[in-house]
Amino acid sequence: MKIHEHQAAELLAAYGVPTGGGRAVFTADEAEAAAAALGTPCVVKAQIHAGGRGKAGGVKLVKTPGEARAAAEALLGATLVTPQTGPAGKVVHRLMIAPAVAVEAEYYVGMLLDNDSGNVILMASAAGGMEIETVAKESPEKILRQQIDPLIGLRPYHITNLSTGLGLAGDAAKDFAGIARGMYRLFTEKDCSLIELNPLARLDSGRLQAIDAKVTFDDNALFRHKDIAALRDPLEEDPKEAEAQKSGLSYVALDGTIACMVNGAGLAMATMDMIDSFGGRPANFLDVGGGASAEKVEAAFTILMKDEKVKGIFVNIFGGIMRCDVLSSGIVAAARKLGLTLPLVVRMRGTNAEEGERILNESGLSILWEPDLGKAARAIVALTKGGQEA
Ligand code: GDP
Ligand code: MN
Repeated sequence: MKIHEHQAAELLAAYGVPTGGGRAVFTADEAEAAAAALGTPCVVKAQIHAGGRGKAGGVKLVKTPGEARAAAEALLGATLVTPQTGPAGKVVHRLMIAPAVAVEAEYYVGMLLDNDSGNVILMASAAGGMEIETVAKESPEKILRQQIDPLIGLRPYHITNLSTGLGLAGDAAKDFAGIARGMYRLFTEKDCSLIELNPLARLDSGRLQAIDAKVTFDDNALFRHKDIAALRDPLEEDPKEAEAQKSGLSYVALDGTIACMVNGAGLAMATMDMIDSFGGRPANFLDVGGGASAEKVEAAFTILMKDEKVKGIFVNIFGGIMRCDVLSSGIVAAARKLGLTLPLVVRMRGTNAEEGERILNESGLSILWEPDLGKAARAIVALTKGGQEA
């Protein structure tokens, strides 16, 4: 799960990382008042769950509360397109107002989990700021790394290696040590998958301060961090994914045209491969789980039909604990209730499959029952391409 910059900054500050005291605002009035309270100059920053805002016009330096209002009016409701938002961009619903600081140097500091080694990696570069992606690609040697074995933890030598590599001394080196320790404590205590300070600025006072912060959490650990889960912003998420989560469905939106409803992650993967091998493209990954009920089937259909890209639906279910007749009734009820007009191919095997077939056939709806997986997949690909069943 991602959170906003102002939330990340507040969290990091609680772990001893200096972040500059920004405030979240939702209206132009609040922006003006915050700028007046914090003092000018200040920065008005679009809060979206994506980086690259600076180059897209999402970060504005203002000299008066009036200018803060004007910047807020321009940004709120606007769509920002950055390399991280995808071509559709993201709509700005909130801003952060923070006192502007005089920046002498911009560093990059990142902490993430390395899946290969199982270690936490602490990275730092003296070439931080908005060009860090180019630096990573063209001169990766400028990014210094320390592997931290989680059984040993963050040690002073990790910190010294990096701060020396960055050329830090005096207060800046001391600040860096505190920042690295705070980041590591936050990372491990809150089950983060990424913490990024870019830039970590060296101010004219010689002290370090993060003027951008990104923190991402491991979704599978959120159940034990209610405070973090409460930071979720539904406006930043795919509404279909959020709805699926509420209904206990595992759903991931993809870019194809064939909606899939499958039980079990393994079968869902095999189904997507099968569609792909017959020349189709799955519109989603959807696992309704082992104990899917008629309500879950309806919830799944509702989500699938909301996707405008979808040209057909493919149901592939193995009835083990789940009975095929119950599922068929659920499919028929959902199709009737939602007025389904898209081609629908159902492949079911297992408990009460014959009864399931009878229910679908007697429904009077145009649903193609095909127990052979290969034929079923080929049929839905043909139907969504506007052709006849192959
Ligand atoms: P990003 O483009 O989404 O990563 O947004 P950032 O928060 O990193 O802001 C973009 C750039 O704006 C930073 O790299 C800084 O150079 C600049 N910036 C942001 N806040 C301040 C500030 O308070 N003072 C100064 N001088 N520059 C700032
Ligand atoms: Mn940044």
